[in-house]
Amino acid sequence: MMTWRGGSLPISLMPLPGEALQSWIGAYARRLHATNSAFLDAIGLAGARMTQMAVRLTAAEADALHRATGVPQQALRAMTLEPYDGLAVTIHPDRRRLMRPPAWRFSAARTRYCPACLAENTGRGPVFWRLPWAFACLTHRALLLDFCPNCHRAPHPWTARRLGPRVAGVCTRDSLAGPQDRPGRRPCGADLSQAPALKLPEAGLVLPAQQRILSLLAGDAYARPTALAELKQLYALAWRVLRGLHTLADQAPDVVRAALIECGGVLPHLTDKDVGHDAHNAALGTTLAHVALHPGHRDHDALFDWILEADQSLQQTPRANIGKRAGRWSWSGPALVERTLARLDSQATLHARLRYASASPRPRWPTLQADTIIQRAAFIPSMLWPGWTMRLLPRLKDRAKLRVGAFRRGCSSFLLLPGGPPELNFERVGPLLDNGQIHTDRDSVERRLYCDTDLTPLASTLAQLAYALDANGAPIDYARRRATFTYASVSLDHSGYKRLCAQHGWRSGQGHRAALLQWYLLMLLTGEIHPPPSGANTRFAFNCTEFRFRAPPALRAFLRQQAEDNLARHSIDEPLTWEPPNSWVTGATWPGITPTSLAPGAVRDLLSTVTSVHEAGNALGGSAEHIRLYCDLADISTTTPSNAIGNLSNQLTPETVEVRQGILAPEELRDLYENQRLELTHIAQLASCNPDTVRALLAHDEVPLRPRPDRLSPRPDITRAWLHREYVEKRRTMAELARERRVSHYHLTTLARGWDLPIRSTERRYNAIGHLDLPCTPSPAMQAVTASPTALDRLRTIVQIPGHTSLAAAARAIYDGRDSALRQRITKVEKAAGFCIIDRSTRPLAPTPRGHDFLREAAEVLRLADQTRPKCQ
Ligand SMILES: [Zn+2]
Ligand SMILES: [Zn+2]
Repeated sequence: MMTWRGGSLPISLMPLPGEALQSWIGAYARRLHATNSAFLDAIGLAGARMTQMAVRLTAAEADALHRATGVPQQALRAMTLEPYDGLAVTIHPDRRRLMRPPAWRFSAARTRYCPACLAENTGRGPVFWRLPWAFACLTHRALLLDFCPNCHRAPHPWTARRLGPRVAGVCTRDSLAGPQDRPGRRPCGADLSQAPALKLPEAGLVLPAQQRILSLLAGDAYARPTALAELKQLYALAWRVLRGLHTLADQAPDVVRAALIECGGVLPHLTDKDVGHDAHNAALGTTLAHVALHPGHRDHDALFDWILEADQSLQQTPRANIGKRAGRWSWSGPALVERTLARLDSQATLHARLRYASASPRPRWPTLQADTIIQRAAFIPSMLWPGWTMRLLPRLKDRAKLRVGAFRRGCSSFLLLPGGPPELNFERVGPLLDNGQIHTDRDSVERRLYCDTDLTPLASTLAQLAYALDANGAPIDYARRRATFTYASVSLDHSGYKRLCAQHGWRSGQGHRAALLQWYLLMLLTGEIHPPPSGANTRFAFNCTEFRFRAPPALRAFLRQQAEDNLARHSIDEPLTWEPPNSWVTGATWPGITPTSLAPGAVRDLLSTVTSVHEAGNALGGSAEHIRLYCDLADISTTTPSNAIGNLSNQLTPETVEVRQGILAPEELRDLYENQRLELTHIAQLASCNPDTVRALLAHDEVPLRPRPDRLSPRPDITRAWLHREYVEKRRTMAELARERRVSHYHLTTLARGWDLPIRSTERRYNAIGHLDLPCTPSPAMQAVTASPTALDRLRTIVQIPGHTSLAAAARAIYDGRDSALRQRITKVEKAAGFCIIDRSTRPLAPTPRGHDFLREAAEVLRLADQTRPKCQ
């Protein structure tokens, strides 16, 4: 019965909030006692198809509907499926029909429904019901229904057809009761508002999941990419949950059972290859996916682990292949891939843990190209940096297990695995670092040094360092250094080294030492411990190891400067050494020692007390290698002597070294030799070193050596009588006389030997009166007393003592009352003379008989000294 036949609409019916276009037009048509098509004809849309309009409105359709009903076009479009295109449904780009949606298989024309909603709204309902993600009514807290309770088909409740039921909210599908091919067939007509629906608990799991879905679907345009990403993750989890319920239900965590009970307690219906797609399955799958995806629930992680197990149970992939297992999640984007990698980390090989960075706080699917890895290799020394080796090297006491060089090479090679392509495996990255002993390296890392240690910190640290190097770069190009510096090309300033040895009293050593220094230079430059050069003796490698612990700081500093010079010579503007900072790695507890936890001063103090590197290692709770690495890193070393690297140990006192450094410094040496015309031997004596050293240093500084003394012609001012008087009688030094006559010390000594004059064994004794023109040779006692710079002052004091009533009185009179200081001064003179000079028992004080002669000689010396005073000042 049709009572309205077109023209302007006699009534106005506004859409409900969120209502589907079909629902509204059907309701409109019914109110007008017309069919959908009659309604569309009447508003000028003859031939328009309701199913297409529900998907997307053309401009003409939107315009016609707007003009007829007054509803804004934007509101009309919101009632179609168009806003959900690409998010919850997929609309064919050319034709207005639905294709398979991004998630779930949900046939195009289906509409779920809530019986209570249909009852309240006279059969009308929201567009939301047409989406595969709709499974619960938040208003009535009930599970949506998919099918008519009578004919068990999707009911199409909104279609107003000529033959359709006059009332709203009933099933409009053809009745299956009668013959279907006959005209006049009747619709099913079941009252959908009375269909039994499952109530959901208010504080349950299903309703929050549906709420989350609704907020994702209702987001703004700019929120769509993140919403779609989450929907994909939810679906990827949901279908694995549904499959898992059929394979591993007995191992499921409690939350699975809770969700199952909420959804009616029945297992989801599945086909062989796929999961079911009704509201019950969507509810159960999405609810558990929501728990697994969002932290907060007690079983959040346990559920995810169970889902991974369920997924694995469906696969043929070997359990250890975490790459394949995680790759199965790639459809849903990187988030679940990374989470899967993290959860499977403990089951993976070291190789895979590094490649996928699964042990690090941020696992990643490997996407880097080979050229990125080659670039990274340039930033990495062939052997892991000393500081990072210290952190990662377990504190093993068993020396037999230590193959630290191979361990460090292995770690460097492992640094090239994170993120790299599969063809760049461990075997192929070694050569990028010039590391050839792949199997030894790997064996040292995995089976020797870490055989009892958890590999997680190592895998995590190396992966983080690798990615941080890619992101931040490094100031050193080790690839260039590996190509530039070899035993053949590295250069060492040998004369500079000899000078250093002379200054410190070291023997400079022979070829073995030179090779050792070159080896250390190479280590500084390339960050790598090189094998001994060809022809090195059997002790070489051992000495290299010792050198790292024992090389004195001054030698280390010299070699560091040499290394800098080598860089400059090749125009390489880089710091000599560099290490990635601590802050590049988070969340790892290292089995070794963190260098920044040690105070260099404290370690230096420790090293000055230990005799072996192992003792130092024990004291710090690490291995010997930890100590050597720290020495490399902090440029410190032990100060205890050892013969292991030759006689390099410093036997001189710090004061002597200082004196020697002053005397042998280039300008000072040149001044002493050229301007002050000191002899080689004299300079050598002042510096406590060998004359050959001085000669070598002068040659190095290009100071022309004076002719040898034996080439000098005889001189009238150098006679035997003169030398006898000055050297033997007045006891002046040979050096002083040679300087005075401008000949060499050697020359004068040779002359003295030739003239049979006795050569004193040492010239080091001071002579306070050598410059005086004494009438005769000083007595032995006077010679002994005057072998001190303060001798004249002492003599001046002691000659004044006789005549005073006591030493105390003498002190008051001549020594500012400093009684004990005066006594000490007198005792010193007497001790040097070898006998008592002042007789303390007499009053007033008087000299002893031998003291009497001594004081008389002293008075004469003082008289001459006062005469020549201006000269000696
Ligand atoms: Zn409802
Ligand atoms: Zn039905």
